Amino acid sequence: MKTEFTLLDQTYQLLRYPAENQHISWQAWDAADEYLIEYVEHNMVDRHDLNIFIYNDDFGALGVWFASRSPLWISDSYVAHKALQLNLERNNIPVKQVITHNSLYQPTVNADLVLIKLPKTLALLEQQLIDLQKCVTPHTKIIATGKANAIQKSTLALFEKHLGLTTTSLAKKKARLIFCQYDGIKNSSSPYPTQWKTDGSQFIMNNLANVFSRQQLDIGARVLLAHLPEANNKKVVDLGCGNGVLGLHILQQSPQAQVVFVDESFMAIASAKLNIAQNMPDKLSQCEFIVSNCLDEYPHSGDHSGDQNGDHNGKEIEQVDIVLCNPPFHQQNTITDHIALQMFRDSKRILKHGGELRVVGNRHLDYPQTIKRLFGHYKVLASDRKFSILSAIKK
Ligand code: SAM
Repeated sequence: MKTEFTLLDQTYQLLRYPAENQHISWQAWDAADEYLIEYVEHNMVDRHDLNIFIYNDDFGALGVWFASRSPLWISDSYVAHKALQLNLERNNIPVKQVITHNSLYQPTVNADLVLIKLPKTLALLEQQLIDLQKCVTPHTKIIATGKANAIQKSTLALFEKHLGLTTTSLAKKKARLIFCQYDGIKNSSSPYPTQWKTDGSQFIMNNLANVFSRQQLDIGARVLLAHLPEANNKKVVDLGCGNGVLGLHILQQSPQAQVVFVDESFMAIASAKLNIAQNMPDKLSQCEFIVSNCLDEYPHSGDHSGDQNGDHNGKEIEQVDIVLCNPPFHQQNTITDHIALQMFRDSKRILKHGGELRVVGNRHLDYPQTIKRLFGHYKVLASDRKFSILSAIKK
């Protein structure tokens, strides 16, 4: 991984998180970050008292760069929060210099300068533009950045719809800037959370803006729902839970199950919690909700050592009977299997002997071999044209 970020005579060490799992060709910043930084540094040099808000900084490059101006930094991603923290530490910048919040936070002060890295999901952008209406004025400079090919008419239309006049820069290294000025009038209400009903209309699923499969049940999840394990009196982890649809159905089919919902998206965890609270309020006490990169934060007893061998303060963690997983194969805009691999590895660490990892995967992905390497075996419980349900028991 290239880690030395040099721009305008400044150099920082920047790594993605978790550093050890990254492809050698990836880095923690991109041309869109560089373009935005150069624009701000060249055009706003004289203003050091600006109230700066930063949204969706992928791995902390913007937070590190602007840290000396004490920006307010907002992200839905636990991985991004962690990357920012470690990158600040790596560069000997006090972590408290950047004021971090998750995506559920509504700023209460006005911004002079808003810097937005365009997120993969337009819905998240839309929610953020709506949130901004309450903390920008017509004098606030709002600048977004992203890959030129990701900036579509629909992207610009969102800025126009929720804030005001919007223009773009020329492209540079395949990145572009968006400039927007709030007209002081718009006051939209949020279309999020979106809702849909599960088959047979048993449950209403609420989905905050950045939740996977926000508009309908994922096709992979549908296949896994037809092959859920019996889980009464068992502890189940819904790993990469999204809106919590898998864990919710576990609780319906196995009313005595305990379910731990884990996701790296704050909006996913908030949605999962809302969905249990609304659909099965009596089961809330059987649930835990954890924002984490894979199972880094499980158990979140505060004694987590980050050790990959299952040895936490000298004790084996053997408390989970089942891990259910419909793994992600993207990180931001990159297609990757490194998250699935960490999920499987972490699952093995927390499973009891005799416990089961149950995964739904697209058949073209190499999950069977990965699981076999880790668990020594796997079984295909079911498959259709597109998906397989794989099961591995920890021996
Ligand atoms: N379980 C839901 C379903 O079946 O509809 C969502 C599955 S979706 C394919 C994968 C989920 O993994 C997303 O909700 C995503 O936010 C989450 N995810 C992505 N990277 C993660 C990570 N590093 N740690 C934990 N969860 C992650």
